[in-house]
Amino acid sequence: QAKEAGRDTLSFFDPGMQAALVSRARLEKDLRQALTNDEWRLVYQPQVDIEDQLTGVEALLRWQHPERGMVSPGEFIPILESTRLINDVGMWVLETACKQLNEWQHQPDTAHLTVAVNISPIQFREDSFVPKVKAILRRTGAPANKLKLEVTETLFVESQENTQRKMEHLRAQGVRFSLDDFGTGYSSLAYLAKLPLDQLKIDQSFVFKVLDSPANAAIVESTIALAQSLGLSVIAEGVETRTHKNWLARHGCYAFQGYLFGRPMVVEEIEALLYTGVEAR
Ligand code: C2E
Ligand code: MG
Ligand code: MG
Ligand code: MG
Repeated sequence: QAKEAGRDTLSFFDPGMQAALVSRARLEKDLRQALTNDEWRLVYQPQVDIEDQLTGVEALLRWQHPERGMVSPGEFIPILESTRLINDVGMWVLETACKQLNEWQHQPDTAHLTVAVNISPIQFREDSFVPKVKAILRRTGAPANKLKLEVTETLFVESQENTQRKMEHLRAQGVRFSLDDFGTGYSSLAYLAKLPLDQLKIDQSFVFKVLDSPANAAIVESTIALAQSLGLSVIAEGVETRTHKNWLARHGCYAFQGYLFGRPMVVEEIEALLYTGVEAR
């Protein structure tokens, strides 16, 4: 039957394709209700210094669906983006993270901690983005200089002036910017000279391979050198072994995030790390 239908309509009759469309539609419907159903959760992954001391966390979004269980961001972020639901969910993330920052700033043991929040380019490009961030900072009382916004290179491909203006506005409030997944995008490096960035985040895909690929090692070494000469800090993500950490430290990177120091976890577990320390493996 598919053969007769011809090439153009083939996919229309493909039961596998149809099933995929139905499940995608169901997923989208569930995502629209997730906010009102209180199904979003934030987990926090440790960021540590050279002595394995906790310096901050990255907030990572999780979807606690009643039947699906925990759904990973790889599955739902693209749908949130294509439906623009990311705008509201992203603000929920920011507000939740800022409430946490505010709680931490009042305890001596946690007052130094920074919180990094991922910002989708869709969300950043909204006209209301800057005023919304400012309103959240005001409402929650979170210290702006402990908030790091993780942005990606895709943001710089278009409307550079607009991006620059918004970043400068937030930077003036004390908010910092970390460039996530550095080196995986397609943009030029020219923006590095203009934009008020504070940190480059070496993507885990490069980190994983530093020990067995000289080309990858060269990319990581150049990223560290680039950060240093631009006066930016640098953090490596996806650090899974002591050997990787030592290699990075030997090459001038002194901030780390990865399973070696902890998976994304709930607040109570993060706070426990401050007393037990990050176990060396
Ligand atoms: P990302 O921002 O690059 O986050 C790092 C991802 O790598 C996280 O996956 C983290 O759990 C994982 N990871 C960290 N250390 C290691 C390691 O040592 N080994 C391995 N194999 N993986 C490690 P996760 O939580 O699944 O998040 C995936 C992506 O989803 C994030 O990548 C980010 O782009 C996006 N995302 C997560 N939360 C949010 C959010 O609140 N807003 C937006 N816009 N995007 C988010
Ligand atoms: Mg990130
Ligand atoms: Mg990343
Ligand atoms: Mg990544």
